[in-house]
Amino acid sequence: MKALYYHYVRPAPADMPHFRYLHLEDFRAQLDYLGEQHGFVERADFLEAARERANVLRGVVLTFDDGLRDHVDYVLPELECRGLWAMFFISTGIYKSGELLTPHRAHHLLGSHGGADMLAALQGRITPDMLVNEHREEFRNNTYADQDNDSATSEFKRILNYFLAPDARKTVLDSLMREYCDEAALFEALYMKPVEIRLLADKGMIVGSHSVSHSVFSTLSPKAQAREITDSFDFLEEASGGLGLRIFCYPYGHSHTYDADTVRLLKESGCCLAFTAEHRDVTADDMAGAPLELPRHDCNAFAHGRASYGSLRPRGDQIASEGAV
Ligand SMILES: [Zn+2]
Repeated sequence: MKALYYHYVRPAPADMPHFRYLHLEDFRAQLDYLGEQHGFVERADFLEAARERANVLRGVVLTFDDGLRDHVDYVLPELECRGLWAMFFISTGIYKSGELLTPHRAHHLLGSHGGADMLAALQGRITPDMLVNEHREEFRNNTYADQDNDSATSEFKRILNYFLAPDARKTVLDSLMREYCDEAALFEALYMKPVEIRLLADKGMIVGSHSVSHSVFSTLSPKAQAREITDSFDFLEEASGGLGLRIFCYPYGHSHTYDADTVRLLKESGCCLAFTAEHRDVTADDMAGAPLELPRHDCNAFAHGRASYGSLRPRGDQIASEGAV
């Protein structure tokens, strides 16, 4: 079985020339391709496999992360008219904070203003006390390096994700958002509303947890991890009208972003399946032996899954490396 993950899926945005997303037309073409090449796993078969952990399923299951409006506005209608189902993983803390999740703040700052301008704005806000000790020298060596837009984008993300202490990251992002984005308007446009979580469930989609705050779990205490898991499932049970099976998706999804406590706590919370971002097929051994660490493929690795930037779409003859692994 191949589980594929998606984030932004939409037509070309009007005002974000550097924004990276999967164009709706490419999404449609990819669904055609996946249906022809691999077929889709039936919902009932998937649920049975999740309960029994014994079935070997062939075909594709689709997953959509982060509770984005795109998934209600563009993905759901497309799935419905094709008779398909999917899983939607939602970080529930946004409904309390009213703020964009950290990665989404970065995507929108970069998407609207580009890497070079945002890197300069970021560097202008950093003082030495904000840096994590072991990265201080590295920051000094890289600062104000001559960069094109793409390398500036990478550097912006690197500084944000690795060089800054967590508190400083929040302070700096708050400041950038105040100056460069209308966060309240973005929030409205970016995320589905709780009532739409219910709509997804009512339409036969599977709703799952993507934590409360979309934090790196391996940096949290076991107690804080437990709260992230329990509170998000509690919220989603209520919002969806009852989840049935509890399915989780790790924020960021790489093996260093969660730990043995995370897996244990998921098990204790009654979670039956959890997805990572390890890029390979789900095997029968995974379902039987490691159902709380199931791999998923990035949709970018399959035909038509290549990202668009702003209004620029990849050429039709560009086929991403065929993800037949
Ligand atoms: Zn996510």
